[in-house]
Amino acid sequence: MLLSGKTALVTGASRGIGRAIAVRLAAEGACVAANYAGNEAAAKETLAAIEAAGGRGLLFRFDVGSATEVDAAVKGILAERGRIDILVNNAGITRDNLLMRLTEEDFDEVVRTNLKGLFLVTKAVSRQMIRQRCGRIVNLSSVVGEMGNAGQSVYAASKAGIIGFTKSMARELASREVTVNAIAPGFITTEMTDRLPEATRKEFAERIPLGRFGAPAEVAELALFLVSDAAAYVTGQVIGINGGMYM
Ligand code: NAP
Repeated sequence: MLLSGKTALVTGASRGIGRAIAVRLAAEGACVAANYAGNEAAAKETLAAIEAAGGRGLLFRFDVGSATEVDAAVKGILAERGRIDILVNNAGITRDNLLMRLTEEDFDEVVRTNLKGLFLVTKAVSRQMIRQRCGRIVNLSSVVGEMGNAGQSVYAASKAGIIGFTKSMARELASREVTVNAIAPGFITTEMTDRLPEATRKEFAERIPLGRFGAPAEVAELALFLVSDAAAYVTGQVIGINGGMYM
């Protein structure tokens, strides 16, 4: 087991990519604090999947965009486990529309969850990692943060922001043996992409050299590598997992 005795926090772990990562890390021996925003039924399914994989998990409901809730949750995890070795900043939302139709509220909601949330959780957890003098942080960016996408300007801006944040944190935390990397997935089959019209999904799939959307479990394998000892010398990197749609 690659992660025996480690404690991980995965945000947005009730569904999709976050759930796949939580289950994969737990199957390798990590005790996983699985965060969700409000979908308790889905979060309980994640916990059941963790236990079915022979792992251990704890559920933590909090809004990543609220400093008070984030600080209380991180304190709760530390009270329970004494340390946090791995942080996967996965929680994210989309508000897709052409610029002329996007509202100020759309902008605020996306930036609050995708960027401010990542800032707040990283700040609370890295304080502990600095004390421990070790840690692994993985941030979920997106291929659209690298190449842009019509109809996703605000989402793409938040995901590009994550790349700048990741590289800066990698530089700040390297002397404390904390690595910080970003994963930039292409189109992965989850509720987020299920919302796209069938015709759009077909059109996107045709632009992907491997000819299909990815699976959450495939992203989880990359996250597992980045949080494992095998990736000790990898930091400040943005690793694409996109079927070749962006090279
Ligand atoms: P998803 O299926 O829509 O799940 C989103 C998760 O984020 C849920 O667990 C949700 O919790 C949680 N969440 C949302 N707002 C939150 C908040 N304020 N506080 C805490 N948790 C919150 O998304 P996904 O497709 O798995 O995507 C996961 C990550 O990968 C996102 O950052 C996304 O931008 C990124 N990504 C996805 C794709 C893709 O094709 N799917 C591609 C590139 C990047 P509840 O269930 O409680 O609402």
